[in-house]
Amino acid sequence: MTGDKEIIIFFPRYLSHVPCRMQFHIITIFPEIFDSYLNESLFKRAQKEKIISVKTHDLRDFTDDRHRKVDDRPFGGGPGMVLQIQPIYKAVEFAKRHATRDMGSTVTKAMADKQGKKKVRTILFSTRGKKLDARVAQRLAKYNSLILICGRYEGVDERVADHVVDEEISIGDYVLSGGELPALVVMEAVSRFIPGFLGKEESLEEVNGSFPTYSRPEIFSPKKGKKWKVPPILLSGDHKKIEEWRRMKGERSEA
Ligand code: SAH
Repeated sequence: MTGDKEIIIFFPRYLSHVPCRMQFHIITIFPEIFDSYLNESLFKRAQKEKIISVKTHDLRDFTDDRHRKVDDRPFGGGPGMVLQIQPIYKAVEFAKRHATRDMGSTVTKAMADKQGKKKVRTILFSTRGKKLDARVAQRLAKYNSLILICGRYEGVDERVADHVVDEEISIGDYVLSGGELPALVVMEAVSRFIPGFLGKEESLEEVNGSFPTYSRPEIFSPKKGKKWKVPPILLSGDHKKIEEWRRMKGERSEA
């Protein structure tokens, strides 16, 4: 157009692809499970601000089976079905390629190592795995990418644990129907250790441990003659005393 100048902006190469601090790759037969939870609140913001990225991989996209089958009966007999190693192996290889490619030219292995960052960690959810706690979450937060494999049915062909993954994680001594909830739990516990994930307001607890909190009204009366009060010290305005009280009441998390 006449009069209009064409403006060409040259982005430096390193700006053309800014890698986020953590990539989660989830391998699952139910990718939709993650949509609603990850599109709210802190997860939503963290993805928008490129602090984390989440990619779900539908296990059925990786099977060599014509009917998109990913499970089969266990050798030796017994009830239920087992997720097969073939599609899981292929999905993990794909996620690994994706993970390293997306780190792009901006984060070389040397840079990652220098920052104390390791690269990719592959995790299988299993009732026999190492129990998740704050320490484990903090350790996992140091990676650039986590590949999370969600089991289903009676579990996963044991060769996945033996040859494909770096570790197995359990979120507690109970049996769930799949690894999808464990994946969300791990992602949230890990993300809270990633710089920028928590807003200033939410980070209070991480700094001071977890202590009881109260809000208005000062006195709540559920019925006549009953009064549930806020501890007076919190209304005193004496910040030093309040801090002391909180420290006394607070349980520090393991990490
Ligand atoms: N028969 C298996 C249970 C399989 S449950 C057993 O007794 O161990 C199906 C899948 O759900 C598992 O493969 C695992 O990926 C996931 N899962 C169930 N409970 C879990 C837990 N407490 N922690 C982590 N993953 C779990």
